[in-house]
Amino acid sequence: MTREKIITGLTKEELEHDLLELGEPKYRASQVIEWVYNQRVTSFSEMSNLPEELRQKLSLIYRITALTPVHDSLSNDTTKKYLYQLQDGRYIESVIIPASTNVNGNRSTRQTLCVSSQVGCAYGCKFCASGLDGFARDLEPSEITGQLLAVEEESKKKINNVVFMGMGEPLANFKNLMHSIKIINAEWGLGIGARHITVSTSGLAPEIRAIADQPLQIRLAVSLHGASDKVREKIMPINKKYPINDLIESLQYYNSKKKHKITFEYILIHGINDSEEQAKSLAKTASSLRAKINLIPYNKVEGLHWERPPETTQKKFLSILIKNGIQATLRKEKGHDIEAACGQLRLIKEKSEMAQKITG
Ligand code: SF4
Repeated sequence: MTREKIITGLTKEELEHDLLELGEPKYRASQVIEWVYNQRVTSFSEMSNLPEELRQKLSLIYRITALTPVHDSLSNDTTKKYLYQLQDGRYIESVIIPASTNVNGNRSTRQTLCVSSQVGCAYGCKFCASGLDGFARDLEPSEITGQLLAVEEESKKKINNVVFMGMGEPLANFKNLMHSIKIINAEWGLGIGARHITVSTSGLAPEIRAIADQPLQIRLAVSLHGASDKVREKIMPINKKYPINDLIESLQYYNSKKKHKITFEYILIHGINDSEEQAKSLAKTASSLRAKINLIPYNKVEGLHWERPPETTQKKFLSILIKNGIQATLRKEKGHDIEAACGQLRLIKEKSEMAQKITG
């Protein structure tokens, strides 16, 4: 499978270039794109303003989408998880997170999709199911954009917020990530503003600098999960390669290039990273970087032995951050009952595993 064979992995310029090479006028690319992103057709035969000969030619060269929907499961809190099969038979998952109520008690219109960027993950963060079974491969741009198109098609909802927090380390798939973001952001494409796209990383310092150099004002979230090297190393093996000081330097560089605030994601794990000392140290780091903090009570993952701290500990940790002037929230868990919560998406290696997942 090559990226060029799937329309939803191409930018408008790339499609124009391809069509010119096929001896077609450039405007045909705009017509195809209009059918794909506005009319949401899934076959070339439906593109009625293209000559029949061209429709046939295109259908021999391209596919429109890269994903086949396999299954979806709905949580009690209306979070919904989707399972897709890729062309090589592998599986990925995406999660749509319901709009929540804002501080004024009004329902937000935000429809957030948590997308995967790789099949499996090589980074092995100790709280995360995605890394448990290792890494299979990077996703192609069409397999990333395809998650949005497929979920919008099934849910009949317009996604207006995208978080790269599903399976995989997005910055380890940098080229395809940025390519897919171009399509997600483009007015001719999925039309989602850069400020509504968040890339989450386990802390790949060189790629944080690279993303800082990108012109788009996309947001950055960093999985910190430990405020000292000693604690963070227990949770995130990447910390050995890029210790906290290296990470901080890359984030200082990021801050020098971007206006919006970085977010630190911090999963609270009982007896591991939930001490007062960690809270104070985290507050210091966040303050120096003007970062916001999202505290996430640990979600149980089968095969992992950690527990979430009692509510009193969670609240105390939050209060220390707030007392130190940090903008921090304690996230309400969503999708826990369908294993769609943070760190719960898991690599499916075998068909039998997939069947088991569907039947529960
Ligand atoms: S948290 Fe992210 S980087 Fe870490 S193992 Fe899970 S998917 Fe990979």
